[in-house]
Amino acid sequence: MYYNEKTFIYLNGKIVKASEAKIDLYSETLHYGYGVFEGIRSYKTEEGTTKIFKEQEHFDRLKKSAEALNLPYPWSSEELIKASYEVLKLNHLQDAYIRPIVYAPANMSFGVNNESFIAIETWKMEPFLGEKLLSVMTSSFQRPNPKAFKIEAKATGHYVNSILASQEAKAKGFDEALLLDINGYVAEGPGANIFIENGGKLFTPQRGSILPGITRATVFEICESLGIEVSEKEIAIDEAQGADGAFFCGTAAEVIGIKSLDNIFFKKEWTNSIGYIIQREYKNLVVEKKESELSEEVKQFA
Ligand code: PMP
Repeated sequence: MYYNEKTFIYLNGKIVKASEAKIDLYSETLHYGYGVFEGIRSYKTEEGTTKIFKEQEHFDRLKKSAEALNLPYPWSSEELIKASYEVLKLNHLQDAYIRPIVYAPANMSFGVNNESFIAIETWKMEPFLGEKLLSVMTSSFQRPNPKAFKIEAKATGHYVNSILASQEAKAKGFDEALLLDINGYVAEGPGANIFIENGGKLFTPQRGSILPGITRATVFEICESLGIEVSEKEIAIDEAQGADGAFFCGTAAEVIGIKSLDNIFFKKEWTNSIGYIIQREYKNLVVEKKESELSEEVKQFA
């Protein structure tokens, strides 16, 4: 699914075959989850070119994540963006997922390393159609204590928490989990941020126990451009359960509607919700669509 004999990756400054690339089995990343990564997407634009969405933001976050964990990071965003486009081209990909990962050398001692390694992998990913609506359950797993982890870093080890939450939700017949923070307020999904709609406005948890998503920031930009009110606040779980609407957003998920939380259905039909407008505007943005028809629709909403 991710690669075959013909797939190329970028590995420490070189282009190599994915099937021939190797990492050190003594790597600290493998043993302790001590590494950082990114989840990025490229799209075939309306004009037919390949565009990595928010490329600068993603590679800047990768650097920040590495710095937060004291991982040496000798690369510039510019060179990694260039390498990503090269790998996409070699793999004949336009609609794709791009996964840079920074990993540590052999080290079992917990000390600071004097080097890091980087791979950039790509695979095909069709743009999401957004028709599916999710049934979500509140997870029995909380987001990690922000005093125990650098929670705003996209660190490999944090994802054990996401995996446990997502697997639990699916085992119970739900599509996805919603995790609370250590104080019991709504935090985020295993791999996406959440927005809820109430009284014609959008709300999302403030920073502190979440990954501050690049898609989340894009939703703020969309709201600004369309004149939709949005703010950050502490959201209690019963406030979320009784809301008018909700959606998850993230690079992989894009903007995806939620139909129910803990089997309580949101009051508005998805196609009447603010989320539905955001979802379509997000799709316009990623393919660099020139004309958006959605500002008229927002006016009718108000
Ligand atoms: N929260 C978590 C835990 C995530 O893994 C992701 C995906 N990177 C997000 C939120 C959304 O972030 P972004 O919009 O930058 O993809």
